[in-house]
Amino acid sequence: MSQADTCRHHPHQSAVALCQKYGHGLCARCLEEDPACPDPDIYCKYRPQCLIHFNYKERRRQRRGHGGDS
Ligand SMILES: [Zn+2]
Repeated sequence: MSQADTCRHHPHQSAVALCQKYGHGLCARCLEEDPACPDPDIYCKYRPQCLIHFNYKERRRQRRGHGGDS
């Protein structure tokens, strides 16, 4: 059984996006509601094509003012 084929939070859901660095997947719902890049602040060579990080950034933009990391 491969982690990359299923959601890391929902093992019964198939993944629609994959963290290529760590090899874990996210289902559509997680990608929509809580896309979490494990290491958003350090270099990742997969980032330009990473759907998870893309959504993560979009979420952060939408939540401007919330959280407040410099
Ligand atoms: Zn999920």
